[in-house]
Amino acid sequence: MRCQPDASHHIAGKPFEDPTGAVMDSVYPATGEVIARLHAAGDATVDHAVKVATAAQKGWAALPGRDRGRILRRAADLIRARNRELSELETLDTGKALQETLVADAASGADCLEYFGGLAAGIEGIHVDLGGSFLYTRREPLGVVAAIGAWNYPIQIACWKAATALAAGNAMVFKPSETTPLTALKLAEILTEAGLPDGVYNVVQGGADTGRALVRHPGVAKVSLTGGNQTGRGVMREAADTLKHVTLELGGKSPLVIFDDADVENAVSAAMLANFYSTGQICSNGTRVFVQRGIRAAFLDRLVARTRAIRLGDPMDEATQLGPLVSHTHREKVLSYLKLGREEGATLLVGGDVPVLQGFEGGAFVSPTVFADVTDGMRIAREEIFGPVMSVLDFDTEDEVIARANATPFGLAAGVFTRDIARAHRVIAQLDAGTTWINTYNLTPVEMPFGGVKQSGLGRENGRAALDAMTRVKSVYVETGDVWAPY
Ligand code: NAD
Repeated sequence: MRCQPDASHHIAGKPFEDPTGAVMDSVYPATGEVIARLHAAGDATVDHAVKVATAAQKGWAALPGRDRGRILRRAADLIRARNRELSELETLDTGKALQETLVADAASGADCLEYFGGLAAGIEGIHVDLGGSFLYTRREPLGVVAAIGAWNYPIQIACWKAATALAAGNAMVFKPSETTPLTALKLAEILTEAGLPDGVYNVVQGGADTGRALVRHPGVAKVSLTGGNQTGRGVMREAADTLKHVTLELGGKSPLVIFDDADVENAVSAAMLANFYSTGQICSNGTRVFVQRGIRAAFLDRLVARTRAIRLGDPMDEATQLGPLVSHTHREKVLSYLKLGREEGATLLVGGDVPVLQGFEGGAFVSPTVFADVTDGMRIAREEIFGPVMSVLDFDTEDEVIARANATPFGLAAGVFTRDIARAHRVIAQLDAGTTWINTYNLTPVEMPFGGVKQSGLGRENGRAALDAMTRVKSVYVETGDVWAPY
């Protein structure tokens, strides 16, 4: 098997195997080829990893922030130097086009390690003078953070979670998605090479059972999950028993609002990025594209022409713009929504089928699809599809579109296109979403706090805000005079 790692897990700075764990195959979704065979971690392996992390955390936290940061920044450099190798592995594990993984996956992970590597030296508390006496606060690490990833951005998620947790002095046990287990192990190798002490970043493989064992483990102080809404609710319920901190990055059904004064070509570019990048498998995607009636015809005209021109095929060919979905199981779900869209009366403008691609007959491909005349009540406009399926909805007025855009239980992201700057800020301020864009979509620099509101999650990753979520505050009151007591 061409991507077989030395062992399934990485614990205490080295590969670790537990051959009794359930077998997990990693499959290249473009062909169906099994590229690696691993074992899931049972309760004993999870317990071992948490204990190793607990033992390593104190020493890591005792290092000055600048020393921790230097190791993270060295890891960023190593990732950049190995970007092609990591990107090819990510493409094999996820099926996403290499054209994308070369610039968006490991590269974003490196940016994040570099950014939090820089901030690690600046984690600080406050000092308050009380007139003689004073108080100060210490920002302390939480302890062991269990991080659980989704399959759409495996190494990026691993880096985003590790960079913040480790910068703040925590140790981590990371469980990648069972669908995409490979690059988290490479990150472990790289962190070790960068000088990370053994046991500070550990990887355990497995599915829901392994995740649950981590969430229940009394040695874990915080759970950071990227995944579906249902999973998020379950994780929060389980974490409540041991009162763990939680960060939940969940799904969405985000609105992208295009007013009729927008630049058509830019609006089409953004709508395509918001629906087709990563074969549509992005949590923040703007899958409800609200288009004001005055620009509708021009917008749809260019959208259809440009969508027809998208190059599907061999993900390893850098000219390919769209790879397959992550698995056949997931494709079944996406295809069921394509059928549903037609049955519900939406107008299929382009796509809607399984493309015929020579040499990739075993792949989980689906054509990029645009439905127009979508109405708010249709399931394709209400439920997360997580595939390259765009729903275009018409609107007339600003107030109307704000109300309709917000009429969803989700609140991850939103975007607005207009040349009227006052309107842009006015509308964004009224949209219920955690991460928003004006005149672009889906850009997530690491400096920008990222996360959702309502059913899309709790807490933020990236930006300075993320460090607060990886630390706890200790207040220290210092008396410099006598102790007053009424007794
Ligand atoms: P998923 O919820 O099925 O799985 C996510 C992770 O949780 C996996 O590692 C899985 O093994 C684990 N898991 C499942 N059940 C668990 C349980 N009971 N306890 C602990 N862990 C458990 O999601 P997925 O299919 O891997 O990813 C797609 C979903 O993730 C979509 O809904 C998408 O919107 C969301 N997502 C959100 C973000 C974000 O940042 N907001 C980013 C990427 C993906």
